[in-house]
Amino acid sequence: MVNQDPTNPSHALFDQFVQSQTCKEVQRTFSELCHHLQLDPRDYQSFYTKLKERLNYWKAKALWIKLDKRAQHQDYQQGKVCAKTKCLVLGAGPCGLRTAIELALLGAQVVVLEKRDSFSRNNVLHLWPYTIYDLRGLAAKKFYGKFCTGALDHISIRQLQLILLKVSLLLGVEVHTGVEFKGWMAELFPDDHPAGKFQFDVFISAGGGRFVPDGFRWKELRGKLAIGITCNFINHHSAAEAQVAEISGVARIYNQKFFQDLLTEKGIDLENIVYYKDATHYFVMTAKKKSLLKMGVIKQDFSDANQLLGQANVDQDALLRYAHGAAHFSTGHRLPNMQFALNHAGQPDVAMFDFTCMHRAENASLVRERKGKKLLMGLVGDCLVEPFWPLGTGIARGFLAAFDTAWMVRSWGKGKPHLEVVAERESIYQLLSQTTPENINKNYSAFSIDPATRYQHVNLNSIKANQLQHLVPMCVHGPDSVGAFEELLKWCQQHTAGYDRVKVKDLTQSWRSGLALCALINTFRPHLIDMSSLKESDSVHNNQLAFSLLEGELGIPPIISASDMATKEQIDKLSMVLYLTQIHDAFNERTP
Ligand code: FAD
Repeated sequence: MVNQDPTNPSHALFDQFVQSQTCKEVQRTFSELCHHLQLDPRDYQSFYTKLKERLNYWKAKALWIKLDKRAQHQDYQQGKVCAKTKCLVLGAGPCGLRTAIELALLGAQVVVLEKRDSFSRNNVLHLWPYTIYDLRGLAAKKFYGKFCTGALDHISIRQLQLILLKVSLLLGVEVHTGVEFKGWMAELFPDDHPAGKFQFDVFISAGGGRFVPDGFRWKELRGKLAIGITCNFINHHSAAEAQVAEISGVARIYNQKFFQDLLTEKGIDLENIVYYKDATHYFVMTAKKKSLLKMGVIKQDFSDANQLLGQANVDQDALLRYAHGAAHFSTGHRLPNMQFALNHAGQPDVAMFDFTCMHRAENASLVRERKGKKLLMGLVGDCLVEPFWPLGTGIARGFLAAFDTAWMVRSWGKGKPHLEVVAERESIYQLLSQTTPENINKNYSAFSIDPATRYQHVNLNSIKANQLQHLVPMCVHGPDSVGAFEELLKWCQQHTAGYDRVKVKDLTQSWRSGLALCALINTFRPHLIDMSSLKESDSVHNNQLAFSLLEGELGIPPIISASDMATKEQIDKLSMVLYLTQIHDAFNERTP
């Protein structure tokens, strides 16, 4: 490590921070730097300014120039626009961290929770040009000198996370690793974690995959069976390895001979393959089921993809041979000494996954009441729209959603009415899945959180507030939530009156046996339930019946499981309000 000024240890600490290569090291060096400069990282409003003042070091200055340029954008109104907003971001994946940075630039207090305590994903991501431009603007090259040099347009997930983590910390974001968000009832694990005390009014889920908090609904897009395989080999950085050309994507339709030869020589049948050289030699491919069965990778054929690719049905050694064979062949047998890199569990970094179904959240935002306060919720990254890896849409659309979400929080911070905030966010969300590298605006230097700078045709009012009342429950439409609760209760009482064994006195306990829900359904759809067949003691069955009917008939997903509803010590009032409001709205809308 080079210390430019041996009399000033903060320079050495800064260098160590910038060059840190693990999540833990980043956090440790950052905390040492803060300690040395007598800075409190929780002082989010002035942390960055004080850091700049106290760290008088030319290398740091080069970084400030980059970050200042971004921070000075008019959209952030000098970090004042969200000065009173407190945001909790779930997940320190690339999209959670990218969102956290924007929220910090808006002046919000931002806390990120991450359940893992290390960044270990070797997989390499192809980046769209605008994301490369964006990351350069955040000084990516200062943290990772090799960032997209020359024609390179990819980066490993862990390296991307490291860059974004460093920027987040410098901008005053509080990042807690090794802490899991367990949902609104259980909150955090460990349950005594100090972050549990954080009072926030914005909650952003960037939990990846299918981590979607209560209240959001999924849509599933099912294609034909698609099986992906990723594998990583150690990069020894030898001259021979340097000579092997990357494969930025070769698909069967464009190179029949390549795939035919692979099949003849190795018995491996692929649809496509990509190879990137990064910290590892990374390969990703789509394999045909028939050849996986023939090569003994998949033991038995099942129509259900979960069973087909379940651990018990996969021969791990055969999978390693398959992946190795494909990698070896596709690089013309020129990669020497091919040893698998290890994953977080210390096993060869090879994974097989199903991407037959793509999930997409129906909505990107909603408002609910929590602990008597209004809470704006949003989704970003994979938990908003699952990407299709062959198109490399993960980071590109993930970052777009991060900016759109920051724009939403900005409106929230400015005090815009809640329904309008959500309506604007949903209008912008309509554009996301259609975005391609070709149709996105090309003036990357003008990109900001303002959607008009990025999308070609933005209509912020394409979705009207009155179409979204189900996302902003009655209780938060207006200032009088007590009045709204009473109104809802009155409506429930009115439509369950006269039913035997049903007495709705409140919005929680009265619903436990499931009979009140069944009665409500019976009032509006008498043919669906035979009330006389229901037993009060059979509460799990009654709740399950009501939940299934409400989901099937009205598209309203359950808020908790039938058994939790029947047995849990406390039923969450706000979840029930949200649920009953949706039922109220659906029946009122659909009943002539
Ligand atoms: P993630 O990276 O999944 O991060 C979510 C984080 O949330 C994780 O760190 C997780 O630990 C944390 N978390 C989850 N639940 C909790 C909880 N309850 N409490 C606390 N923390 C929690 N994208 C591209 O752009 N280009 C590509 O070339 C590309 N190739 C791909 C190839 C493959 C094979 C696959 C599978 C994906 C590919 N992607 C690609 C997609 C890309 O990996 C994702 O889009 C990206 O990682 C998503 O980032 P994210 O932040 O939304 O989620």
